[in-house]
Amino acid sequence: MECPQCNVDMTELTIGTGQLVNRCPSCTGVWIDVADLNRVLLHNNLPGLESMGGRANIEEMAGQCPVDLVDLVVIEGGKKSDPLRYDSCEACGGIWLEADAGVDAETGDEAAEQMVEFFREYAKSSSHRA
Ligand SMILES: [Zn+2]
Ligand SMILES: [Zn+2]
Repeated sequence: MECPQCNVDMTELTIGTGQLVNRCPSCTGVWIDVADLNRVLLHNNLPGLESMGGRANIEEMAGQCPVDLVDLVVIEGGKKSDPLRYDSCEACGGIWLEADAGVDAETGDEAAEQMVEFFREYAKSSSHRA
């Protein structure tokens, strides 16, 4: 599977709870299936992604899904002045987090921790807005 941004092969990492995450060795972004991400979030007492809110920003450019090559959609949440963003594939449900989101993990567990931290922040600031 290739990184949506760098077109280099990503490394597959296994999280201790059994989910798979792909990490780009070049930009350190991570790709995870939404079902796997939801399991990681629920395991850490966070709501599933679909109940976290956020809005699609169709003006922002995103890369292509490494699975089915459709364009990814940028989803923004949090403060309008300083939004948190992730990219989502509407076809396969894959989720892409850029290095900007605070991911630079070496192991699956580290990646899971960093994703949880990102979405904890995302869920917090999104609910403040509402
Ligand atoms: Zn990359
Ligand atoms: Zn896809």
